[in-house]
Amino acid sequence: MKPWPSGVMHNGGMSERIIPVFDLRNQFLPIPPIPQPLPGSQQTSDLRGRLLRDLRISVTDRCNFRCSYCMPKEVFHKDYPYLPHSALLTFEEITRAAESFVTLGVRKIRLTGGEPLLRKNIEILIEQLAALRTPEGLPLDITLTTNGSLLARKAQALKDAGLQRVTISLDGLDDTVFRKMNDVDFPVADVLAGIEAAQTAGLKQIKVNMVVKKGTNEHEILPMAKHFRGTGVTLRFIEYMDVGATNKWRMQEVLPSAQVIALLQSELPLMALPACTLGETAERWGYLNAQGDWDPTLGEIGVISSVTQAFCGDCNRARLSTEGQLYLCLFASQGYDLRSLIRSNMEPQLLTEKLAAIWQGRDDRYSELRSQMPAHSSDTPARKRVEMSYIGG
Ligand code: SAM
Ligand code: SF4
Ligand code: SF4
Repeated sequence: MKPWPSGVMHNGGMSERIIPVFDLRNQFLPIPPIPQPLPGSQQTSDLRGRLLRDLRISVTDRCNFRCSYCMPKEVFHKDYPYLPHSALLTFEEITRAAESFVTLGVRKIRLTGGEPLLRKNIEILIEQLAALRTPEGLPLDITLTTNGSLLARKAQALKDAGLQRVTISLDGLDDTVFRKMNDVDFPVADVLAGIEAAQTAGLKQIKVNMVVKKGTNEHEILPMAKHFRGTGVTLRFIEYMDVGATNKWRMQEVLPSAQVIALLQSELPLMALPACTLGETAERWGYLNAQGDWDPTLGEIGVISSVTQAFCGDCNRARLSTEGQLYLCLFASQGYDLRSLIRSNMEPQLLTEKLAAIWQGRDDRYSELRSQMPAHSSDTPARKRVEMSYIGG
């Protein structure tokens, strides 16, 4: 494997260090043989008994933000080798793949990236996916994660195309903090306008994701909670994760969700709520009223604790990269080359069977393994991991 120099990291102006980024994008895993006999019911489980339910599709590896925890500027500079357009799956190819995934059990599709709203005519893809039906004849749950920068302009068109829900990422309300975190000087007001536009357009179950980075934005936790409490928007706090290989992740910068909850409880009483669905990533907490009861009109928050509380046990997610590689874990270093399968124009049934064979061999549980490492270790396993902007968050 040949590392290509990704850029020079300046360390306080004192020394320079090259972060080797391993281009894992062309490292394919072999597609396993189709099991005999073929799965009767096509809903098949992996080696740990987990069904496939949730497909995340990255529609672009590009983004107009440079959040340091995801696409640090030093690496994702103007000469970064983004995928050429010819490498991207077309909307027809994505839809064809999605159809086979649905046969296999997928019920929820999340479009992501990179910044998915940068993909030209994304509404057309949403229309195509919204037309798919499960074997029981039901529509899919289709959602999208966005940084919100283009949402004010696009919310209505997305809704009209068949998008039902949306998740917007926002790391703070303080304009200075937010501009620094997106690292392109993007104002918080424009993202807030995007959230409002999503509500006006009638998108449901709007969620806001806040990545909490200790020492950077934890003082924004309470203001964010107060801002969104009672608005119908569910705020979710995400532990800063060691995704990819370029964000210089350190355990010391992770604020455990338990501390987020304790901080919130100091001013806004909460109670734990049961999970809505199996495989849900967020732990739910509801706001209490003066009588000490959960008040649904005040809403709820969520915490996603992938560092301090692994949830691999019921992980039902697969990820399709921008160029059609299939990854079975967010922390995987290699994927399966679905693009070649899709472009070979094989029968949909055969494609479904090949996907079933891949899923049946899945044994991934990265977060669980990480949690077995010594506390505060910043030396997490397998530093050769694909970037989140490529695989899809
Ligand atoms: N650009 C879109 C956005 O920011 O919403 C979609 C792609 S982004 C990779 C998907 C989600 O991953 C975002 O909510 C982002 O905050 C989260 N994310 C990215 N890097 C992360 C990290 N190192 N730790 C935790 N969450 C991260
Ligand atoms: Fe872009 Fe989203 Fe990554 Fe931020 S988190 S750099 S907005 S892809
Ligand atoms: Fe799923 Fe991998 Fe995350 Fe575990 S680490 S929850 S297997 S994506």
